[in-house]
Amino acid sequence: MPVTDEAAAATPLKTVGVVGAGVMGAGVAQDLAQTGHRVVLLDLSEPYLARARAEIERNVRFHGFFTKQKGGPSPAEVLERITFTTDYAPFSDCDFVVENATEKVPVKERIYPVLDEACPPHAVFAANTSCISITRIGGWTKRADRVLGMHFMNPVPLKPVVETIRGHHTSQQTIDTALRLLGQMNKEGIVVNDLPGFVSNRVLMLTINEAVWEVMDGVATAADIDRIFVTCFGHKMGPLATGDLIGLDTILYSLEVLYDSYNDPKFRPCPLLRKMVDAGLHGRKSGQGFFEYGAQAGAA
Ligand code: NAD
Repeated sequence: MPVTDEAAAATPLKTVGVVGAGVMGAGVAQDLAQTGHRVVLLDLSEPYLARARAEIERNVRFHGFFTKQKGGPSPAEVLERITFTTDYAPFSDCDFVVENATEKVPVKERIYPVLDEACPPHAVFAANTSCISITRIGGWTKRADRVLGMHFMNPVPLKPVVETIRGHHTSQQTIDTALRLLGQMNKEGIVVNDLPGFVSNRVLMLTINEAVWEVMDGVATAADIDRIFVTCFGHKMGPLATGDLIGLDTILYSLEVLYDSYNDPKFRPCPLLRKMVDAGLHGRKSGQGFFEYGAQAGAA
């Protein structure tokens, strides 16, 4: 029997592919599995997958108090729903894919043609990119109408809102499908139009970068800069702690994307940021950035 658009719209999305198992990919996979989806989680090699598995297990256990209160699944049940793989073959079962690979155009540009071949024609691709144009990403596929941006916030399981980006060719059906998946994850999407950095990161990356310039120029310590934002403006975190949470490497790559996309010097990354990334000080995930982190670093 042919499947009508209405029937398709009423059918729950069951299996979701997740590309990239770093900070965001692990968080998206965890959240999807906790909300009852089957997940195929792919990264380049086994050590990345092992790290993601350990991270997911730790985070589900860490939030066990809340999940127990809500009757949520155990760490073992969450992990059982996730297929960890370095191979695209299981993507043939995916209705929807969230791509979370490193924020570099040459990296993402190689992934989408492979996804296009591996996934069924109806599958929707959501780029969880910080800054890269969704219209540009759609052009790397043969299904630009089924490509959109889903900018999840970090830590994914704790953030109820997702910036949802409509590329030039993204269809309304694709936006509706993405909002339906977010509904299944108990999240809400705010739909915005496509330009690099979208709403959030076009502003946030400039703010974090300028705060790094303030450290380099000796205007104040990192702690005092953040204290001013927290105590004077009522922000939950200052810009430098936010940079550490996102990952200073991801901040640098995002600024490079914005700089190239707009050809505007206002996005020039601060040399101190590049120096810290070169030194391996990537923030929470490496244990040190502008601040130092203990055993709980990276916990969602
Ligand atoms: P990360 O460095 O923690 O993880 C990136 C992962 O991608 C790594 O595990 C890496 O091995 C993997 N990867 C690289 N090339 C790959 C390939 N060809 N195929 C499969 N996997 C590949 O970075 P992250 O912080 O998780 O960021 C991932 C994406 O999410 C980026 O586009 C970033 O801009 C975006 N993002 C990040 C945040 C944040 O707070 N960190 C928030 C929203 C969106």
